[in-house]
Amino acid sequence: MIIAQDVEKWYDNNFHVLRGVSMTVTKGEVLVVMGPSGSGKSTFIRTFNALESYQKGKIFVDGILLSHDVKNIETIRQEVGMVFQQFNLFPHLSVLQNVMLAPIWVRRWPKARAEEVALQLLERVGILEQAKKFPGQLSGGQQQRVAIARALAMQPKIMLFDEPTSALDPEMVREVLDVMRSLADSGMTMVVVTHEVGFAREVADRVVLMADGLLVEEATPEVFFNSP
Ligand code: ADP
Ligand code: ADP
Repeated sequence: MIIAQDVEKWYDNNFHVLRGVSMTVTKGEVLVVMGPSGSGKSTFIRTFNALESYQKGKIFVDGILLSHDVKNIETIRQEVGMVFQQFNLFPHLSVLQNVMLAPIWVRRWPKARAEEVALQLLERVGILEQAKKFPGQLSGGQQQRVAIARALAMQPKIMLFDEPTSALDPEMVREVLDVMRSLADSGMTMVVVTHEVGFAREVADRVVLMADGLLVEEATPEVFFNSP
C-alpha cells in the first residue's frame, strides 16, 4: 500500500529532517513508528498524504506516485485518512456535522447518505449519544474518537495516526487505543506514530525506530521489544 524509497527532505536552513528513508507497508498491516522527539517521525508519515513535500526519493501510495501534481494529491487525501495529536475538529460544528462534512463536500454524497454513514461510525467509536454536541463539550478521548470517525467517513484505504494519545489525560488513552485496536482487527492498513509500548507490542505487525532522520531498526514487536 505504501512504498517509500530513499526519501529525503531538508529545510531552507539545511536541516536534513529525512535523510534517506525506505519502508513499505503492505495491505492490512499495522506499522508502528517510534523514536525520539524531532527524529522526523511526524514529517515522514505526513509525506504519505502529501501534507509534507520531499525533495529526493519516491513515495507510492496504492500505486500512485506522490508528486506535486495537484490531481493526485486530491486522490491521495481521499485514500489516506489522518488523525492528529490535537484532534483538529471544527469547533463550531456538531460532532455529527464534523463527521458528515468531508463526504458531502469532497465525495459529493447526498446529505442523507452522509448522515447515515456518520451515525454508523459514531456508534462504532462509541460516541453516538454525543452526536448533537459540539467538540468543546466532549472529553479529549471522546474528541479523538470523533476525529477517527471523521477520517473513516472518507472510506480511506490507509489510516495515519500521529501521536493520537499524546494530548490525552491517562484515563482517556485506553478508549482511543481500543478503537484503534478494533480498526486494526478489521483489517485496516495503519501507520501509527506513538510512544504507547503496550499498543505497539500487542497490535503492531512491525515496529520501526527512527533517529535523526533515518530508520535505524525494523522488527516484529516480539524482536523489537526484547532486543537489548
Ligand atoms: P518527530 O515527529 O519525530 O518529533 P518531526 O518530524 O516533528 O519529528 O521533526 C521535525 C524536525 O524538523 C524537528 O527537529 C523540527 O524542529 C524540524 N523542523 C520542522 N519544521 C522545520 C522548518 N520549517 N525549518 C527547519 N526545521 C524544521
Ligand atoms: P508539530 O506540532 O507538528 O510537531 P512543529 O512544532 O514541528 O509542529 O512545527 C510547527 C511549525 O513550525 C511548522 O510550520 C514547522 O514547519 C515550523 N518549524 C518547526 N521547527 C522549525 C525550525 N527549527 N525552524 C523553522 N521552522 C520550524
